[in-house]
Amino acid sequence: MSEYRADFPILNQTVNDEPLVYLDNAATAQKPRAVVQAITNYYYHDNANVHRGVHTLAERATQEFEAVRDKVAKFINAPSREEIVYTKGTTEGLNWVAASYGSTHVKAGDEIVISYLEHHSNLVPWQQLAKKTGAILKYIDLLPDGELDLTSARRQITDKTAIVSLTQASNVLGVVNPIKKIAALAHQHGAIMVVDGAQSTPHFKVDVQAMDADFYAFSGHKLMAPTGIGVLWGKSELLADMPPLEFGGEMIDWVQLQKTTFKAAPWKFEGGTQNIAGVIGLGAAIDYLSAIGMDRVQKHEQQLVNYLLPALLEIPGVTVYGPHDPAKHSGVISFNLAGLHPHDVATALDMEGVAVRAGHHCAQPLMEWLKVAATARASLYLYNNLADAQKLVEAIKATKEFFN
Ligand code: PLP
Repeated sequence: MSEYRADFPILNQTVNDEPLVYLDNAATAQKPRAVVQAITNYYYHDNANVHRGVHTLAERATQEFEAVRDKVAKFINAPSREEIVYTKGTTEGLNWVAASYGSTHVKAGDEIVISYLEHHSNLVPWQQLAKKTGAILKYIDLLPDGELDLTSARRQITDKTAIVSLTQASNVLGVVNPIKKIAALAHQHGAIMVVDGAQSTPHFKVDVQAMDADFYAFSGHKLMAPTGIGVLWGKSELLADMPPLEFGGEMIDWVQLQKTTFKAAPWKFEGGTQNIAGVIGLGAAIDYLSAIGMDRVQKHEQQLVNYLLPALLEIPGVTVYGPHDPAKHSGVISFNLAGLHPHDVATALDMEGVAVRAGHHCAQPLMEWLKVAATARASLYLYNNLADAQKLVEAIKATKEFFN
């Protein structure tokens, strides 16, 4: 996919006198010119507040803002544009499900089931909901290589389960969860299936109907859109039955002195002036990725993993967490170097121009499960190439030598 590299001006720079190799895509993705240009165009030509005005700019801005809902619906195969709620990102989407659906549908003694793999954004909101309602939070165990243990899933999901919430792709171990199977299990027991799509939506084709999710949340910034914009998709009958969480302008139908009625979903959730430029940027990112084709994006990343995973495993002293079979691995690879703190590894790699992340990756229970305090993490995207992967391998070898 080297033909797309030129679309990302940020990649064309040196860091510590070395060409930048950006491998921190699980944290946030770089933005192509088309996205930056769409936002600039909006501010240069169309900037106005949406929905409220009848003047030309307001109508243009509203039309662009609402058109993105159709693009998102198509991108994740949602049955209706009215099921697309704009949020700040995955974190807000998951919090809204917990706070709005959860606090009106979950009662004391009900069970909420998640897994040891979850990002704190798909863990802490459920902990808070359990605390507030008296529900019980349960965890699906993992197999030794980090894949979801389906036997444990069958044990944990019972008739007491109200909500099952899982990530589709791990931000640490690179595993992809069998959401369709778990959703079937959840529905069999009368529970709803919530999916954290932060690490999957940017990297492969998502079909919320095929996986039979009830809610699906993702962030724009990980799929080349700006920060501060994301999406919560929910089945219309569930959204219709949920109270809004933020009250004020935009989300109301009729306000009287002592009583207010609200708009229908998705607008009842979108209180106040929205991140209009962010929405426009999200639309441009979806156009950009759709033109390339998500199947091609996935295939390209898989080819890089096919090289990178075995190459890392061959380096003495490197521990790779998660499955060692590239076929079971998305483009997120966590590793440690024997005797070195991952922060030192990341700092040393940065000296070589290679950007990776080090830390607990907002997954402290998973770190506990792995029995490590932290890991280094390299994560790929469509603009990375074989030379980037080779540079990482060489830089890790150089780091080892430097510290020995
Ligand atoms: N879930 C997963 C799996 C993630 O990787 C992240 C971000 O790293 C999030 C949720 C939270 O996303 P955001 O910070 O964009 O809300």
